[in-house]
Amino acid sequence: MTEATTTGMRVLLIEDQRDIAANIWDFLERRGHEVDHCGDGATGLARALAGGFDVIVLDLGLPRLDGLELCRRLRAAGRGVPVLMLTARDTLEDKLRGFAEGADDYLVKPFALRELEARIRVLLRRGRGHGQRLCHGPLAYDADTLSAEREGRRIALTRLQGALLDALLREAPRIVSHERLIDAAWGRAGADTAALQTQVYELRQLVDKPFARPLIHAVRGVGYRLMEQQ
Ligand code: CA
Repeated sequence: MTEATTTGMRVLLIEDQRDIAANIWDFLERRGHEVDHCGDGATGLARALAGGFDVIVLDLGLPRLDGLELCRRLRAAGRGVPVLMLTARDTLEDKLRGFAEGADDYLVKPFALRELEARIRVLLRRGRGHGQRLCHGPLAYDADTLSAEREGRRIALTRLQGALLDALLREAPRIVSHERLIDAAWGRAGADTAALQTQVYELRQLVDKPFARPLIHAVRGVGYRLMEQQ
């Protein structure tokens, strides 16, 4: 994605800490983006449901309605807008819960503002999709609706899960390395193999676990491949 298409982003910032909100707001506006701010979860959800935003920057701990519940309700209402969650709590459990509720990425406070902007760019780039349905065996993926389909069952994915499945399907049944998967899902923002493992685990829970035969296979120390078992 070029610089030109990511300036002038419309960002909804839902953050109750005034100093943090003011910093983010100032920074993003100076970078040419349009920022709308809400200081509590209930107002934030109403604003998010009203729509018109390219991305939502969402604090986890909020008065009136916490970030996880806000995200859950937003996704339950069918809104696919990218969500970047902010939190002071750097625990695996919070990350998993955030992703389970439909957050697309996660940033731990304190963070550099440039990092925030970089992550937002990745989310928007990832969200463009390819407008193409990818299939292998019983599994199909549609980037436009962020959904997979297997044996007649429709499976909603997060943007991150969609990016991983997209990369696996494009190469299936070939092996896709850890590095390529990280690049496909996180871009230049990067991630470690533990974060990748976590996401692939979540993806397998959705597209493999409910079915008789697994399609996504780990290739120890190398990567993952999507293939039908012999
Ligand atoms: Ca907070």
